[in-house]
Amino acid sequence: MEILCPICNNLINKDLPTTIPISNSQKLFHSNNYKIIGCAKCGLLQLNPLPTKEDISKLYSKDYYYGNEKNRRFQEIIEFFIYLTHLRLSKEISSLRKDKGKILDIGCGKGWFLAGCRALDWETYGTEITSSTSDFAAKELHLDVLSKDISECNFPDSYFDITTCLHSFEHLPQPVETLKEIRRILKKDGLLLLTLPNIDSFQFKISKYLWFHLGIPYHYYNYSTKNISTLLKKAGFVPYRISHFSLGYNTFGFLQSLFNLLINEPNFLYYLFKGNYKMKKLTIEYLYNFILTFLYFPLFAVISLIGSFLESAGHHGGTIKIIATNS
Ligand SMILES: [Zn+2]
Repeated sequence: MEILCPICNNLINKDLPTTIPISNSQKLFHSNNYKIIGCAKCGLLQLNPLPTKEDISKLYSKDYYYGNEKNRRFQEIIEFFIYLTHLRLSKEISSLRKDKGKILDIGCGKGWFLAGCRALDWETYGTEITSSTSDFAAKELHLDVLSKDISECNFPDSYFDITTCLHSFEHLPQPVETLKEIRRILKKDGLLLLTLPNIDSFQFKISKYLWFHLGIPYHYYNYSTKNISTLLKKAGFVPYRISHFSLGYNTFGFLQSLFNLLINEPNFLYYLFKGNYKMKKLTIEYLYNFILTFLYFPLFAVISLIGSFLESAGHHGGTIKIIATNS
């Protein structure tokens, strides 16, 4: 079947070459028969085959946010760090506008960012397709959250002052149509903020198909600064501020990718933080991975922290933060 790149309409028909030993990459990238294909013209990476509606409801089941009794995704300390990061971001976004208005966060998760905006006098709206998570936002934080895809929400024309997609845009199957819908519901002088992983980063270059932020099979597409800018312009937006540093996302992406190069079990550290291994039986392989992680953690943490600062300073950070105007 022919696959057209949604950005440049180029025919996508080739697998990107990998420098990772196939035994490692197969484990991560060919699970459930998913693989990554790339556009030779603009470099966009696409999951192939694209998940079906059935796959999506499984992927975003309660387990995605690790809906345990406390409805938390990670260990408490990590959750607290994520909470602080969202609060800081809400202050930053709020400062973009003198007059507070309506803000929509697409893929709002548990709603910490929106709660921060509400505390700064914004009228807040969210969408989140994981129903257990949208329930948390609605019932615990009393936020106005729809558990629907943005295409099904039917917001009025020119309704929002700001729309944000914080590490959610790469999860969306129809980027062009989604941007057109966002443009319709944004006011004429409205702002769009996207944060997403950067395939033009140093951490992707060193870890290739083992890069943590490829997010297989959750990310339909993975973008570079250049091709996301092209896509925004194609939809009628004007990108005006681009930056690359996020202490949490960049440093952890770097760190987990280094471990993916060392340890045969992909994203071992991530699942440790998530608490998934508590329910597993102890095996020799688990103990071996745990000891390796423990031994290498100090060295890799320092490399990741320094590496994240350096790659961001050189405009090749692990993430892209891009603000665009609705021209
Ligand atoms: Zn392309």
